[in-house]
Amino acid sequence: MSDEYPESNVAGPPLGGVAPPLQCNRLLDGTFEAPVYCGAEGKWHVIWNLDVENGICCDKHADEVRRRWAYVGFHPYEMACSIQGAHWLPDEDRCVVTDDDLGLTEAALVFAASPSSYKETHGN
Ligand SMILES: [Zn+2]
Ligand SMILES: [Zn+2]
Repeated sequence: MSDEYPESNVAGPPLGGVAPPLQCNRLLDGTFEAPVYCGAEGKWHVIWNLDVENGICCDKHADEVRRRWAYVGFHPYEMACSIQGAHWLPDEDRCVVTDDDLGLTEAALVFAASPSSYKETHGN
């Protein structure tokens, strides 16, 4: 245990709450309702799981992520990552803003990210 890494986050990655965009959202202190984030410039986009729960981190906290937690995606935080409605492409580990010209349909992307939720949404 150290002051730098709060004990409450040891069991898993720092999920939860609504973090500001473009900034490192490593939870440093506070509560779920009133979180205190690192707030440094966001350099990396971390995708924690196939439900695409994700976070943004600075260079310092990127080191922490690599050492301590499992993730399914980890790429430089770019413009596309910050745009609402962007999709993460698991095979390429990058974020894109869907465009009809690309021929990527919503259903195809959802299926790639989460087969079970595809069935729930599109079953029968
Ligand atoms: Zn940070
Ligand atoms: Zn991204």
